[in-house]
Amino acid sequence: MNAFLRDLDLPHALGALFFPHRCPGCGDTLHGRRECVCPECLSRFPETGFASQPDNPVERLFWGRVALDAATSRYYFTGDSAMQGALHALKYQGDKATGTLLGRLLGHSLADAGRFNGIDALIPMPLHPRKVRLRGYNQAEIIARGVSDVTHIPVIMHALSRKKHTDTQTKKSRLERWRNVSEAFSLADSGVLEGRRLLLVDDVVTTGSSLEACATLIWTSGCKGLSIATVAFAER
Ligand SMILES: [Zn+2]
Repeated sequence: MNAFLRDLDLPHALGALFFPHRCPGCGDTLHGRRECVCPECLSRFPETGFASQPDNPVERLFWGRVALDAATSRYYFTGDSAMQGALHALKYQGDKATGTLLGRLLGHSLADAGRFNGIDALIPMPLHPRKVRLRGYNQAEIIARGVSDVTHIPVIMHALSRKKHTDTQTKKSRLERWRNVSEAFSLADSGVLEGRRLLLVDDVVTTGSSLEACATLIWTSGCKGLSIATVAFAER
């Protein structure tokens, strides 16, 4: 194969030809080659300001459930918003570039806040292996890598694993849901977490039950500290 063909990202080039790159927030065609969200949508992402705020609503969500050093979400997840479009594009349309952007934006808010200093490692919320195969990636890992680009904190993969699907929980009671969720994760390698200050990273926090189960399990590793950061917070 000649060098041109080897270097050409053919799927991307064909995709750009037949499906012009569109902003996941508003659907407008993007003209900048490296742009993944249009400047207008970017400026309309609804900021929470939680990163520098102790006892913010994300931290309060976990009170009485699991101990955390700090927790934050950079944006509000509101229905019909550009943020919803961006996260949907990352999760269901293979738009990893938008995930990286959201991760970097989250990383900047953590770096500016000061309350998240001294973290040794980032842990993406694990996704079931079958879903990783279907989607081609774990969206939480894409976000964590974006956070890492900005903060230079390394990402630890494979310390945790996910065993079960926990999606169809709507008809279960709160206790059944908790049992189902808490059995969904396992600690694959506690040695890499022991004695470290960790940040668990995910796309959205809603009820917090999966993050709570994961965080509870992470504490059993003997880690020194644990915080949570997500791109978006869905108020209930
Ligand atoms: Zn837009």
